[in-house]
Amino acid sequence: MDIIDFHVHAGSFPLLRDDIQGLLTNFPFETDVDVKEVFSNPVFLKAYLQKLGVKRAVVLAECGPGTNYSIDSKLIAEFCKADPFFIPFGNINPNHHESPVDEWKKGRELGIKGYKFYPADHDFDPFIDSMWEVYGLCERAGQPIMFHTGLTGQRDASQRFIRPSELRSLVEKYPDLRVVFAHGGKPNWYTEALEMATQYENVFLDTALVPPADVVDWIKYSPTIQNKVLFGSDLPVSGGYSKLLEKYQASELTEAAREAIFFGNASRLLSIELNEVAEQVAKRA
Ligand SMILES: [Zn+2]
Repeated sequence: MDIIDFHVHAGSFPLLRDDIQGLLTNFPFETDVDVKEVFSNPVFLKAYLQKLGVKRAVVLAECGPGTNYSIDSKLIAEFCKADPFFIPFGNINPNHHESPVDEWKKGRELGIKGYKFYPADHDFDPFIDSMWEVYGLCERAGQPIMFHTGLTGQRDASQRFIRPSELRSLVEKYPDLRVVFAHGGKPNWYTEALEMATQYENVFLDTALVPPADVVDWIKYSPTIQNKVLFGSDLPVSGGYSKLLEKYQASELTEAAREAIFFGNASRLLSIELNEVAEQVAKRA
């Protein structure tokens, strides 16, 4: 099966905060895999993913307390630079970056293709003026953005701004902006995430840390949603990748749903429509 993984974390393992290092080494991995190497070295990460059918991987920056602010857009751009297998998504944290707009401009020069934002883990209000400006820039540049939605496990998290419905004003203000609700609002807000992904053309859900049986339920609840769901592993928080894929193999997903979720939807979102959206918005402006 061909896979595009929309949700992979990487960086430099030794730079992570102690408790996050402990967390990542606690998940069971395949016996021949060293999670520290896979996390820190693009050659190892690609070899690991490719063996399991992954064709492209979106690699996410996270510049917050859990990573000791080490995994910024620059680090991820450099991690991904040598190989188009990786698609670098940056991160802007207004509690850390003095000017979110300047940070966005830096990311643009570095080749960042999209962004993930973590309001709860980084304890910020996503509706401050400077972030509104960043979302507008992302829309015009055709860069998809992702938000962490649902409960978060990081010890610093405020558990604020985690409900998908809280992002309604954003998706209404920027209708051409591709917005991915990471984790689909797990585990308490699936219904509102599904309703929004059904209602708004450019809202998508990723499957990171969502049990495959729940993904099957999403599609039962709303069959058209299979065109709005993106497979994301959340590696290395996922633990062993082969185990995760086995669970999907054993699930009741139809062949068509599997193809859409694991490849088709992300390929449309990332390659074809990326440029088209930028053109559309430029024309409208
Ligand atoms: Zn994640």
